[in-house]
Formats: sequence, structure tokens, C-alpha cells
Amino acid sequence: MEAKSKTTQFVYSFKEGDGQNKKLLGGKGANLCEMTQIGINVPPGFVISTEACLAYIDTGSHDLPDGLIGDVHAKIRELEQATGKIFGDPENMLLVSVRSGSALSMPGMMDTILNLGLNAESLPGLIKLTGNERFGYDSYRRFIQLFGKVALGIADEKFDKPFEALKKRVGAKNDLDLSADNLREISEVFLDVVQGATGRPFPEDVFQQLELAIKAVFNSWMGKRAVDYRREFKITPNLANGTAVNIQTMVFGNMGDDCATGVGFTRNPGTGENVMFGEFLVNAQGEDVVAGIRTPKPVHEMEMVMPEMYKQLVALRDRLENHYHEVQDYEYTIEKGVLYCLQTRNGKMNATARVRTSIEMVKDELITKQEALLRVDPEELDQLLHPMLDPSTKAEPVAHGLPASPGAASGAVVFDADRAELAKKEGEKVILVREETKPEDIHGFFAAEGVLTSRGGKTSHAAVVARGMGKPCVAGAEGIVVDVEKHIAHVGVHVLHEGDVITIDGGNGNVYLGELPTVPPKFSEELRTLLSWADEIARLKIMTNADTVDAATKAVDYGAMGIGLCRTERMFNAQDRLPIVIDMIIAKDQVERQEALDRLRPIQRGDFKDILKIMAPRPVTIRLLDPPIHEFLPNEKQLEQEIAHLTSLRDTVEGVNDLMNAMHLLRRKADTKELPKPFGPGGRELVESAIAKKTQMLHKVRELFEVNPMLGHRGVRLGITYPEIYEMQIRAVLEAAAECSKEGHDVHPEIMVPQVCTSRELLWVKEIVDRVRTEVEAEYDTKLKFKFGTMIEVVRACMRAGRLAETAEFFSFGTNDLTQASFSFSREDAENKFLPLYESNHILQHNPFEVLDVKGVGRLMGITVDWGRKTNPDLKVGICGEQGGHPESIRFCHHVGLTYVSCSPPRVPIARLGAAQAKLLEKEYVIQQGLTTVNKSI
Ligand code: PEP
Ligand code: MG
Repeated sequence: MEAKSKTTQFVYSFKEGDGQNKKLLGGKGANLCEMTQIGINVPPGFVISTEACLAYIDTGSHDLPDGLIGDVHAKIRELEQATGKIFGDPENMLLVSVRSGSALSMPGMMDTILNLGLNAESLPGLIKLTGNERFGYDSYRRFIQLFGKVALGIADEKFDKPFEALKKRVGAKNDLDLSADNLREISEVFLDVVQGATGRPFPEDVFQQLELAIKAVFNSWMGKRAVDYRREFKITPNLANGTAVNIQTMVFGNMGDDCATGVGFTRNPGTGENVMFGEFLVNAQGEDVVAGIRTPKPVHEMEMVMPEMYKQLVALRDRLENHYHEVQDYEYTIEKGVLYCLQTRNGKMNATARVRTSIEMVKDELITKQEALLRVDPEELDQLLHPMLDPSTKAEPVAHGLPASPGAASGAVVFDADRAELAKKEGEKVILVREETKPEDIHGFFAAEGVLTSRGGKTSHAAVVARGMGKPCVAGAEGIVVDVEKHIAHVGVHVLHEGDVITIDGGNGNVYLGELPTVPPKFSEELRTLLSWADEIARLKIMTNADTVDAATKAVDYGAMGIGLCRTERMFNAQDRLPIVIDMIIAKDQVERQEALDRLRPIQRGDFKDILKIMAPRPVTIRLLDPPIHEFLPNEKQLEQEIAHLTSLRDTVEGVNDLMNAMHLLRRKADTKELPKPFGPGGRELVESAIAKKTQMLHKVRELFEVNPMLGHRGVRLGITYPEIYEMQIRAVLEAAAECSKEGHDVHPEIMVPQVCTSRELLWVKEIVDRVRTEVEAEYDTKLKFKFGTMIEVVRACMRAGRLAETAEFFSFGTNDLTQASFSFSREDAENKFLPLYESNHILQHNPFEVLDVKGVGRLMGITVDWGRKTNPDLKVGICGEQGGHPESIRFCHHVGLTYVSCSPPRVPIARLGAAQAKLLEKEYVIQQGLTTVNKSI
């Protein structure tokens, strides 16, 4: 990083900071400035910029950047003037909170210190000032604990153990039961803990406290938790670089029963409903709510206990949403009847809530349709396609908690995050079960199917993080007693051991023993509306890759506008077809092969008819046989073994027959008893014929052997070698189309040839198509409407696009193969061999089989589209490789002028939204990618 001059402004008061500049001031800091400047009651404070953090990290020393501490002192003086209190003054002390906050919200990732400025000398002053001894000691012990953990790096347990011991000794169920004396005692114990752990007394000097706290926040940016989080959520430096530090006057929610603290969402983040949502605690500090130390009350109860404050809170919530035009997640404190807003940020919510709020906020005229479409991350929609518990299941829940993040999940119980991570690596599905979760459990969340906690509310750490990840979560299931040390949990009369399977339902908070059946979720009306808006805006059409009636039906429900890829080989694998396919492959000559194909044709025709009818009037792109045919045969080893078994069976049959003959000779005539007949007549012949067939298959397998089958005898090469196979498929498609039309269906088949690399190959197949068309049209006395085109999955095909477009009416990029061909990476092996290493070392940014490689494969696509359309301006061009369902890849497909993308049915909704966003953000894409113009073909 460039060295900043001494004149760089590192510190901004809330009154002067630019509320829009989240990169400089962090999201929290910018919002505090903005709220202050629009007149919301925010405790005064200032922000140290992210630039200061980067300058600090850059020096690599333990010194704050030049001039920073002087500026901080000056801002503290301003706070003193604004509040009439003095930092470090025992009689009238100013206390502050020190919080982190980067440009993107990273919940729980950074550390916060409260009550900074307290020390042994000022504590009596605080008690005198507030007239509340309990409050004074409570604040003090919290400060020592937090400061000790965050700024001095002392482990939590060092504080937790003596604290729990004291509670047990005095019979306190929760923290509120502790008296002032108890809290004084524990404060002293905590001071000893600090001395013992660091070898030094607790820092008394308030400016030293402040400096250590600022450094701790800066350091936390490079801490493991934060680094892991950024890696997992792909937060790159251009999204968030460094953390700001927010220093804010403390206000207290724990000074008595006219005080409270709470957190809220402006709408329900689990369902999206437009209602007050959140939790609060009377006489408590914010930390109690977030950490789940006491179970908070739903916010609507405030209307009863503090009606005036509730009214003000509703007004604050309305004000925040009307200003930010976005659902807000806010924190507040009520100090002696005065409401302060401590922070606000855009609310994280699950996909259900995001979709519903998008629709309702458009209706409320808070946002436009375009903004609504841009508000939802297409990948999030995946959450809506997750399974729910089958409603017909009659299982009784064994425990019940808060429905904190919807969706159902089953898995083996694990009690700590490390175990969850390990189990996941071993391929096991797990549910992370904790008393409460902490930020350091984050890797356990990534690994688990779902999370269950026995303490904490809907805004506890577990709930917020699980919701953000779209994982099911049940929080605060108080009927569960977790014993982390013994690795067990008591649930009523049941004892759960690690490895026992449970099911949680984050939609209603139920917990069940064992694995329960689930059903696929239904599309909500709101999602249908949002996606219909997406379709109005998108230019790209969204097709699906489907080859069964079920998949096609589902895709249509999800909004697919046609089938972009029907892989016909999948239809060959069904039980009733495979034997015929094998006969076709091992046929000794063309006559035998034709005989098998004649049996296959009506079956294929039936399949095509079913799919064409379901999709009518949408197009259905049917690809002729692609994989090497040996894939339909067992492998060589397996066949050899089977033949060996059959041969020994034949020997056994012979042996038994010999035995029978011998018995007949030895028996007396008078002996009338029947001899047993282990093998009936024809047994031997049956075995012989099985051996013959398997041997024929083995010869064929050996004959078909290829060192590199993916680059070998497949696709159109196969069709040219065995023209009768392609002819059968073409005839089946055209007959299906003719029959469907006769039955009154408006069907639109498209015949697609795979693996083409030269125009002569395509012409060769086209001749068969033309001949068969004439024959079928004559036979059915009808005119057929269909298209003929090619896949583009070979580099040479890209280079010959102009010529191919003379014959093809459409191109479809097979980017699975095209990526393989461009990188020379085997698509079968690369992903488990070296690609993870390439990604983690940033040699490649993404797995190119997942996310389209815009710079390489994308260039080939661009050239192909241009050259193809030069020959045929109406050329329809799509993509049917896996990348076609990936939103980032869809942006490129839009840019390069494709007509459609085709993806698996569950990704259709994601692609529909992705296509709309690609259109809405097309100009930004050009700038982002460093391109010169929006593609002319758009
Ligand atoms: C492709 O290569 O991108 C494609 C869709 O075909 P397949 O995956 O069946 O080879
Ligand atoms: Mg392919």
C-alpha cells in the first residue's frame, strides 16, 4: 500500500463522516455518521478509517500510524465537550465502546469492547454518579472480561470458570441474581485472572486502554476467524479492505428498570413479514442479547412494559426503512427513558424473506422493480429449493426451540465445530449441537447441515449466522441440556450421544430423533412474481437440461422456456432398454445391429413424444448419441470375473449330471424313490448361452478399448461409424414430432449433433436428416417443423464457426467439453486432483468447470458467436454446459450475445434472476471486466 502522508485524515466524527463511504468508514461507521446527520438519536462518537487499519497492518510493527493517536485524543476532547463528561475522570467519567466495522458486514467476526475507560479509580465515581452499586460492578467485571479477552488475548474459559463457580456457590440461576457484592468479588477475581495470564496488572491508564483496544480491533482484521470468513464468502480486498474502528459514548441499558437494550429487524428476517421484529431485555447490556446469556423477550412485549418507548421504537424503525429503503438490522439502548440507536445495517435474511420483502417494498413504493431484482442474490434462491419435512410424517418432537432459520436437516449429532469439520471431510452429514455458538465456531457452521442450540434467541449468533448461510437452525431449545465435556446431551428422558442422528426443523423449531423424510419445497407466489419481473427484463432465454418426464415437468414449473439439452444416452440406461442397447453394440454385423435398433426405435419415439408434449410449445433440443458406446457395457474385469463364475457353474452342472448318471447305474431296480433334480433340463444350455454372450461382450469391450475415450470414438464420430444408430434416433425424433402434431400438439424439436469439429461431419448427418425427413413426411403425410444444429465443444469447431453456420441453424456451447479441450484438463479427474490446489493458491480464481473461464473459453465463445452470425445473422446460440446455470457466467453469456442459457432444473430460477441482473448490470459488467463496449450483438 502507498504510504499515507501525515496529513491523511484518519479520524472522522459522526457529524462529519461521509455516510456513503463504507469503504473508508466501514458499514457501521458510515451508517452511524449518516444516522447522526439525519437527526436520529445516536450516542456521539467518531470513526477511525479503514485506511488507518491498512497503514497499521502495512507497517508490520506494533505502532499506530503517525499522528493517529493525536487525532484520537482530539476527538475524545470533542466527545467530552458534547457529553460534559471527562475521559478518565473518576468523578464524571466518559466511557466509550470500541467496535470494529468493515465495508461489508461480517457478523461476529470482529471483536468489540464495551465500557472502556473504567478503572479501579473511576469505578466508585460511576457508582456514585448512578447511585447504583450493582450496575457499577457489573459494568466493571464485563469490561475486565471483554478487554482481557479481546485486547489481551486471554482465553474465555479463564473468566467463565470462576464466574460459573461463583454463580453456583451463591445459587444464582442467571446473572441478574448476582448482588453488587458478588459482582465486586468476581471483578477482583477477574483482575487476578489478568495478572496471572499476562504477568502484568490490568491497565489503569484510560488512554493506554484505548490504544490497546484500537490495535486489537485492527489486529482482528487479520485474525483467523476474519480471514476464514472472507475466504468462505469470497470477500476480496476490492469489496472490503481493512476494518474501521468506531468509538462511541457508552449508554447503559442496565441502569435499572427504565433501561433496556435490544436488537431488531425492520421486518421479519425469517419470513419477510412487515412486522416489528426483535428481542429486548430490561435492565441489560447489548452483549446479553447477542451472546444468548439471558433469553430475551419478543419486542412486542415492550408495548406492555414500556409503552412510550415502544412507540418511539416503532417510529425509529419506520424512519430507518424510509431512509435506507432497505430492511435494517438495528441495535438500540434505552437509558433512563431515552432511546438511542447504536447501529444499523442492511438486514441479512434468508431467501424467503428477501423475496417477500422485495415484492412488498415495491408495493410500498420504497424500491423499484429493478431494485427488487437486484436485491436478491440469485444463488440465494437455492435455499428455497431445499427440502422441508414431509407434513404427513407423524413423528413426535423431543424438544422445541425457536424457529431461527427455516428448512429441515438431518445428521449425526456433533458437539463441537472441529468435530463437525472432520466429520464433513469424512463425508458424514452432521448437526452441530451447542449450548450457544460463538464466532470461533464458524467452520462448524460451514460443515454442518444445520445448527441446534439450547440457549439464545432468534438474533443470537447461531441464528444470525445460520440464516445468512441459508442453513436450518433451531435456537434456544431449552429442553436440551448439553454436556460438552462428556459429549452428550439430555433431551427429556433421552440421552443423545455423538453420532446419534437427529432431525431439526428450522421452520417451526422442532427437534426429532432419527432421520425424517422430507419433501421438496413449493414455489411461493412472491417468488413467481419476482421471477416474472425477471423474465420481463432479461434478454437471455432460460432453458433446461432434462431427459426425463419428471425433470422436464419440474423445469417447466420452475419457469424453463424449453429444453436446451436432452441427452438421449440417458434414455438408453433404463432397465428395459439396456439389454437392447447391448445387443446393438455387440451385434456381429449390420443386420443384427439393425434388428436391435428396430426394437429400440419405438421406445425412443415414445420417450421423445412424452417430452415434446410436456414442453409444447417450447423447443426441445435433442442431442444424438454422444458417449463412447463401451460405457453401456460392463468393464473388462467385471466381465472376466462373471465368465469365470459361469464357467465354474457349467462345470458344476456337468459334475451333477455325471453324479446322476452314476446313481442310476448303481441303483437297484426295485428302488422306486425319485432322485433329486438339482438342475432341470436345459440348465446346461442356459449357462452355455450366458457364457457365449458374456464372451462376445468381452471381445467387444476389448475391441472398443481406447486409452483416451473422452477424446476418442464418441459423438458424431460414432454416428459416422455406425450411421444406423443416428438414423434410428433421427427417425424416432421426427416420427415423434409427426405423431404429436397429428394429435394436435404444437411441438418444436431440434436435432443437435455432438462433438462436431468440421463442417463435413455436420453435412454428413444433415444428409441423413434430409432423407429421413422426406420419408417420415411421406409416411405421415405431414410437413415437419424442426431445427438442425450443432454443439460447439471442440476448439476447432469454434475456429470453423463461419462454415458450420452454413449448415447449422443453431449452436450450443458444450462448455464442459470446451473447457476440457481449452485447458487440456480432464473433466473427469482435474476436480479431485489439482484444481482445489490451483484455487487455494489463486493460480485459478475459480474452478472453470463450475464458473465459465471468461478469459480463455469465453474468448473462443465470442469469436464463435461473431463468425457464426456473420454467416447467419439469425443464428440461435446457447450454452448447455454446467456453467450455464452460474450467475456470473450468465453475465458473460448475456454480454457475448447468446440467445439462451440451459441448466439443470433446480438452477432454472437462479438463472432467470441471473439473466435479469445481467441485463440490468450490463454497463457495469463492461467496466468491471475492462471491456470496451457492450457487445454489439446485444
Ligand atoms: C458439454 O460438453 O458441455 C455438454 C453439455 O455435454 P456433456 O456434458 O454431456 O459432454
Ligand atoms: Mg459434451
